[in-house]
Amino acid sequence: MNKLQLIIAALVAAFSLFSYYGSSSVNPITGEKQHIGGMTQKDEVAMGLQSAPQMAAQMGGITQDARARALVSQVGAKVVAQSVAAKSGYPFKFHTLADPRTVNAFALPGGQVFITMALLSRLETEGQLAAVLGHEVGHVLARHSAEHIAKDQLAQGLTGAFALGSGSMDATQLAQVVSQMTSLKYGRDDELEADGLGLRLMAEAGYDPRAMIRVMQILEKATGGSRTPEFQSSHPSPPHRIEEIKAKLAKVYPSGVPAGLTP
Ligand SMILES: [Zn+2]
Repeated sequence: MNKLQLIIAALVAAFSLFSYYGSSSVNPITGEKQHIGGMTQKDEVAMGLQSAPQMAAQMGGITQDARARALVSQVGAKVVAQSVAAKSGYPFKFHTLADPRTVNAFALPGGQVFITMALLSRLETEGQLAAVLGHEVGHVLARHSAEHIAKDQLAQGLTGAFALGSGSMDATQLAQVVSQMTSLKYGRDDELEADGLGLRLMAEAGYDPRAMIRVMQILEKATGGSRTPEFQSSHPSPPHRIEEIKAKLAKVYPSGVPAGLTP
């Protein structure tokens, strides 16, 4: 084993760790300390705007259904305008994708939110749409994409250092498995956090937060097959999420959800 090789490997590992752990910021909405590399809010917005047309094209483009587009834009705008999201500084935009088969919704960093016609057509109330969009806005506010990018960079740096230091393929594979396991775990935590933020946003916007429970049931029914949309891939199962949603609602509304909210 070459000594210089080991020193370089150690330096690469140290640099990767320093880049990741050396910079942190407190998220003003979740109050959590986050490692997001050097990524700024401006970077996130630019990244989202840049990849939005490509994302839309991959999923059949934007729907021709003007009523559906208007509904999604209006409910999305309401969820943002009347909640803490309005103060976040992200320019939110809500897109309706033509895809009639893939039941899905997702958010790009910086505020570009998407829902497919396949999911929209399965929703029964405006409140359920607010729940889906609120969950996605929650991912943006919690800066989950930025966290994932920073974590990927750390994993790549450490994997490279490991390969360099050991010179062995097996070790590299091991490092990859470790990094995949950590990103899976974070995927689950992110979903529950986005659910929690979604509940808060929709309630602030005047929607009955219990609508999110029904959304989980619709998703479970719709995605029982082989497709793994954002809502389910590497994510907790809908029944688990329903339990968490019920627990959060009981905590925020100990004497029951107030009457008169939009269902
Ligand atoms: Zn999600």
